[in-house]
Amino acid sequence: MKTIALVAHDGKKATLLEWIGKHKQFFADKNLIATGTTGKLISDALQQPVQCMASGPLGGDQQIGALIAEQKIDWLIFFWDPLSSQPHDPDVKALIRLAVVWNIPVACNRATADFIIHSSLYQQDYQREIPDFSVHNQRLTVE
Ligand code: PGA
Repeated sequence: MKTIALVAHDGKKATLLEWIGKHKQFFADKNLIATGTTGKLISDALQQPVQCMASGPLGGDQQIGALIAEQKIDWLIFFWDPLSSQPHDPDVKALIRLAVVWNIPVACNRATADFIIHSSLYQQDYQREIPDFSVHNQRLTVE
């Protein structure tokens, strides 16, 4: 079962909830993980369980980032708010960075989320390429 991580800043929570409400069926058979407040709202809206991490500003973004590094997330939906500053901005950047590092599909806005959800690749049980960082990991090996 695919695992989808969801995060929305306060200014984008309504957008995410509205978008999710249009795709209830898609999410019904997915494993959902979210930052605290986003997760509670999604669980109420979809009437399905969501594994809630800490609230984003309290470490939730970093918890999701750690799950990405552990290959436990297949897709990140992260509706961050470009018109407000966030106290946890370094965590926001770190989460997006880790998604790129590990080649996870990331939707930062509704249009991208639409493209991904309607992608035929998603229906085909797409297996993303997991980058090989062995050269990086061995760069300081002493011979
Ligand atoms: P929240 O966190 O879901 O707990 O509001 C989201 C965020 O700001 O990263």
